[in-house]
Parts: sequence; C-alpha cells; structure tokens
Amino acid sequence: MLEGGTLKTKNEDYIRIFDTTLRDGEQTPGVSLTTEEKLEIARKLDKLGVDTIEAGTPISSEGERRATKALSKAGLSTEICALARSKRKDIDLAVNCGVDAVHTFISTSEVQMKYAINMTPEQVLASSVDSIEYIKSHGLVCEYSPMDASRTEIGFLKKVCKAAEEAGADRINIPDTVGIMIPTTMQQLIKEVTSTVKIPISVHCHNDFGMAVANSLAGVEGGASQIHVAVNGLGERAGNAALEEIVVALNLIYNKKTGINPKQLYETSRLVSRLSGMQIQANKAIVGENAFSHESGIHTRGVTVDPSTFEPIQPEFVGRTRKLVAGKLAGTSGIRAELESSGVHPTNEQLAEVVKTVKDLGDKGKNVTDADVLAIARSVMGKVVKEKRFVDLSGFSVVTGMNIIPTASVSLVLDGKKYVASETGFGPVDAVIKAVQKLTSPLANVHLKEYRIEATTGGSDAIGEVLIKVEDKDGNVVSSRASNEDIVMASVEAMIEGINKSLLKSRKQK
Ligand code: MN
Repeated sequence: MLEGGTLKTKNEDYIRIFDTTLRDGEQTPGVSLTTEEKLEIARKLDKLGVDTIEAGTPISSEGERRATKALSKAGLSTEICALARSKRKDIDLAVNCGVDAVHTFISTSEVQMKYAINMTPEQVLASSVDSIEYIKSHGLVCEYSPMDASRTEIGFLKKVCKAAEEAGADRINIPDTVGIMIPTTMQQLIKEVTSTVKIPISVHCHNDFGMAVANSLAGVEGGASQIHVAVNGLGERAGNAALEEIVVALNLIYNKKTGINPKQLYETSRLVSRLSGMQIQANKAIVGENAFSHESGIHTRGVTVDPSTFEPIQPEFVGRTRKLVAGKLAGTSGIRAELESSGVHPTNEQLAEVVKTVKDLGDKGKNVTDADVLAIARSVMGKVVKEKRFVDLSGFSVVTGMNIIPTASVSLVLDGKKYVASETGFGPVDAVIKAVQKLTSPLANVHLKEYRIEATTGGSDAIGEVLIKVEDKDGNVVSSRASNEDIVMASVEAMIEGINKSLLKSRKQK
C-alpha cells in the first residue's frame, strides 16, 4: 500500500490526505486517547480512506509506543506513520513500532533554531540530512518537515528542501506551525518550494486565525499534493485544518480527487467527538448539528421544492440528512414537514392555527422547539391525533434523602404489557431516568444527550419545565419537554416522550 500511496500523488488531480487526528489532534488541550480508542479511530479512518494515519510520537511515552505498534499491526491498508524529532534515538523508537513511514521534523526558523533547539543553520541542515538518510536506510517512507517553515527565511528554506530531496526524502511537508499565513502568502510560499524540488509537497496549517482550511487549499493552488488534516479540526491551540471541510471543498469546489468516501465523514466526526470528548459546535461546517438544518420559511419552502435553492452541499453526500426546524421563522411547509416527520398529519385549517400559535409564542420571546410544535398541534387537533405510542408510564416511586442512595421504581406499559424495574442513581432524577432506560433499552437504544430544567414561575411551587434531547444509535436527535410541579415527574414524562418520538422517527426512516 505504501507504493500505491506514493504513486497516487503522480496523478495531478489526486490530493493525498494525511490524517494527524491521532498525533496533532491528540495534542489538543484536554484530549488523551487510550490505545483501544486510537485503534477504533484508526479503523474508521482506514474505512474513510485517508492515505496516511499519523499514529503518534513514540519517543514521548510508553503508551504512545504501544498505540503506534498496535496500529502498525492492525492490518489496515492505510500507511501508518510515526512522528520523530530529527534524532536517531527518536527514529529508532519509531522504526521499532513497525511503522510504514516516519515523519521527521526540525525547526528551521531563526527564532526557533536560536531559542527552541539552540542549533546553527548548518547543524540543522546536517541533522536533517542525517535523519532522512537514516530513515531511508531502514527502507521506510520518509516525510520531512522544516518546522515553522512559514517563518523561515526563504533562501534557507529552499536550501533545506533541496538537501532533503537529495538525501532521499519521499515528501516534504511545509508547516504553518503558528498559523500566521493567509491564502495569498501560502500559495506563494508553496509555489516557491514546488519550483525548487520535484518530490511531492504537503502542507500542515494551523487555525490560529481561522484560516487553516483556506490556507491548505491555497497550498494546493500553489502545487501541494498532500494536506495534513485532523477530524473536526482538532489539534494544538486552535487546531489543524478540518478533514471534513478540506475533503468536501476539494471534491465540490476544486474538482480534485481524494481516496475519501465522503459518506463516511459524519460518522467519523461523531466517533472522534465521542472518544475525544470534544463537542462540535452546532454551526460547524459539514458536521455541525445545524449544517443541514433550515428554519426560515423562505428557505424551508425552497428546499422542500428543490434542495439546490439553499443547499450548496447535498446532506447525503456527507452521510447526513436534511432537517427542517420549526421555529417562529418557519413557514407553513416547514412546520408541516416537521409534524409529518413525527407522524402527525393536520388538515390545512389545523395547520394554519398551529403556525399562528407558533409565531405568536416566538414573538413573545419563547424558544419554540419541535416539542412545542408537536404539543401545540396536539392541542389544536384534539383527540383526533393518532400518534403511535410505543411506551406509556403506568406509575413510579422514588426514595431520596440524606445518607441513603436515591432509588427509583418505574412501571411502564410496553406493547400493551406492564413491566417494572428499579435503579439507583446520583439523585432522584438520575435514578428514575436510569430505570426508564433499563426497561426500554431492548426496544429503543437511546441515550440522554441533554437535560435542562427551567422554572416557569418564581416560587418554590414553580412549575418545572424539563427539556431533554435523546439520541439513538444512528445519531438521530429528538427533543421533548414536559412540565409539572414535580420535577421528577416532568423528567420521566419528558424521557418517555423522547423515547416515543425517537422510535417513531427511526421506524419511519426504515
Ligand atoms: Mn501541528
């Protein structure tokens, strides 16, 4: 596969995707992955179709060596690469992990040579050549990075790149280590490098000014044939160029080829988010919760008639589905679509009344969720609504206090039969929700994604309004809400409502 990976760069339109989620991505403050987690992500990246997986930095810890070895042995078709400083002991440890490729780097900017590694330019040049030759003597692919290239004196940068090529490097990566480039300067820099050496040139851009993706693409315009990326834009400080954004832009705007199957992008993003614990902002391109959601009436009507009216990217292309959100900006067709996705089919008159109520509430400043819209439709349509319910609450009790473990017993009706279960929890709400999940898990594999409680009035007799979001195993998220003077009661009702909605939605999709 190494040969294939390297040969692919000879096709002008093919851009190699070098994934550093497990190396630079793991250098994200607060992110630390176990070997098993790295393996799970690597398998997904392999399936996604990246050309190289940078597995880690073997010199840094025993755990890194264990993970790098495990990835090398996992039988993946992707090239597995380890990072090493320009030092023989680093390279030896990388080689011992059984990798296909070693990525070696050394500072070449004046400030870093002087203050970070205390070496002269001549020493840096000699060390680079020695490391490259040493990696090649082991028969491995060698990628070389002059670190802080974007702040390196251009004459010296060309000199080290030329020397790296002559020493046998297979690829040279140009890092914008501190993220200070803009697209025009990045394109110019890569043009300078690609006119100096013949081997493939890669870019590694950081997002300090929010331009990592733009700068990487500008690098391609300048002649680069490989991009370093991380899923969800993870990485040091503000992160690296986001894999999903790079791939979609290369495909749809630049008309370039990659080895990536874009349909796997969303699942990959979610897996990395879950294992890294780094939440994705709702308005993040491609993988954010809102990236394919429409609320305004003009937009929802447009996409219902012809998606190209307001959708530059088809959601299916990246493994997602379109979402029409019913809020106060929603139009009649958006609200109808939202209700129909929950199995509710109002008449035109009923729908008009629902729309009016939603807009009135929105204008009063209320945050109208899809749960509200459904509740409003229910009251408007009265008893004629025949929503299919899978789960109903039959009763519950909860014991809580000081120096005892909160315990809840819940009785539910599932498919006409009554079931009872008990659970303990950190508090009464936790215990009762766990008991509901215990009973319903064979039917609905959902987990609580968000739980929020709001008091609608001021006193201790306030009505508690519980808003929850539950997510099924396919990543469908539904929200539901319930109000009651008893917050435990409201929590149970909201959870059961969420499970019913989730089941309805997933069964409709199948
Ligand atoms: Mn980096």
